[in-house]
Amino acid sequence: MSKHYCHDCALKLRVIVPFDTTTINLTGSLYQFGKFVKHTAPTGGYNNLLSIFNRPDYSSYLDYTVSASLSGCAQIDDSGRTNLVWYAGRHVGMSFSGSKYYCADDAIKVVLHHDLTFIHSFPVSWEQHYINRCLECSNYILA
Ligand SMILES: [Zn+2]
Repeated sequence: MSKHYCHDCALKLRVIVPFDTTTINLTGSLYQFGKFVKHTAPTGGYNNLLSIFNRPDYSSYLDYTVSASLSGCAQIDDSGRTNLVWYAGRHVGMSFSGSKYYCADDAIKVVLHHDLTFIHSFPVSWEQHYINRCLECSNYILA
């Protein structure tokens, strides 16, 4: 079961690692460029669940990733990975499963934020998440 922290507690407990969002290059590594293409203009060949941003340009991708990094709640998933999830409150993309429409997305998930050569993001559906409480302060959070 995932653990969740609000952004403030996650910072305080060092669950999430702040980084300089003004200089980040989200296509700086081959890995990141591949993720950017996958989630903005996929070329096909993805068999599993795939979410695609509603805007294909880099500046929108950067905006989404930075917003989620600066405001998202921390989610530590079952595999021990720390992600940031930010509820955008508007349509940000669509998810497909096996090349078929799956759901509309209204939130952003940032993964691998601790490594600036791997950090990337993709849209997710808020409905696929649950309202949780921060493990530290017990406030309700969207993650
Ligand atoms: Zn908290």
